[in-house]
Amino acid sequence: MSAPTEPSGRYLSLGAGIQSTTCLLLAIQGKIPPFDATIFADTGWEPAAVYTHLDRLERLAAAAGIPVVRVGVGDIRVDALDPAHRFASMPLFTLGPNGEHGMARRQCTAEYKIKPIKAEVRRRLGYPYPQRIPAGVFVEMAIGISVDEVHRARDADVAYMRNTFPLLDLGWRRSDCVTYLAEHGLGSTPRSACIGCPYHTDAEWARLREQNPAEWADAVAFDAAIRHGSARANADGHPLRGQFFLHRQRVPLDVVRLRPQSAEEADAPGCGPWTCPHANEQAPVAAIEADGAGLSVREVA
Ligand code: SF4
Repeated sequence: MSAPTEPSGRYLSLGAGIQSTTCLLLAIQGKIPPFDATIFADTGWEPAAVYTHLDRLERLAAAAGIPVVRVGVGDIRVDALDPAHRFASMPLFTLGPNGEHGMARRQCTAEYKIKPIKAEVRRRLGYPYPQRIPAGVFVEMAIGISVDEVHRARDADVAYMRNTFPLLDLGWRRSDCVTYLAEHGLGSTPRSACIGCPYHTDAEWARLREQNPAEWADAVAFDAAIRHGSARANADGHPLRGQFFLHRQRVPLDVVRLRPQSAEEADAPGCGPWTCPHANEQAPVAAIEADGAGLSVREVA
């Protein structure tokens, strides 16, 4: 029997930011082929505005027969502070015992976003892990990457998914997406990322502090709680040699002096499963080990 050449399904990876929301709206309006479903991976710690936006997208997509599926493996904030839970390391800024600057390895995107999306694709294909997927069986996964971010487009790392890029096919830039969303009542599409993501720019932190004091307080509390390492590492008798911080200044978040930023920095993209703007960042490996819990640390400054 020859291997199938047609996809077994067409899905959209919905990060819920500007570009993926645009892809969904284009499909809803019949301007690109429809999706069998759009998949949102929930870390459990998105801003309330993102969940409100998702609710709205769910209603719009349902009217066009496109289900919005929410998947997840837990709550990244709760899990990080749970001594019984394995810590999927966030890209936290580290301060070593002798003042060394480093950064914890990022495992959170893979664990909380990519893993549940792949599990959902496998489930829909009928081959849940660890079942082997026959050669040639695959789905198309649309990813919202615009022309100005073409360097972030890449092939999937598994044979059962083939990435497509509707915005690249259309030649759309991010500004085209912003205009299109505004024209169709979705101009308030928020930036999608965990409330306490260490990748926030100063503009993002400032926005959180000024416009959402409750979520800012939540991030400040998490920053303090994670200072001496993950709950699991401490429970296992492997306290961090040094300290963790959410902000690159490596001081408590509530005393950071946030710098004014350019419009470009202020408009930084959020964290999509396959579109993290920091995915290609390289930094020299540090000479320090973070702790005995398997965290490697690399220097960034
Ligand atoms: S938003 Fe930040 S903390 Fe959350 S999954 Fe992405 S990189 Fe990790």
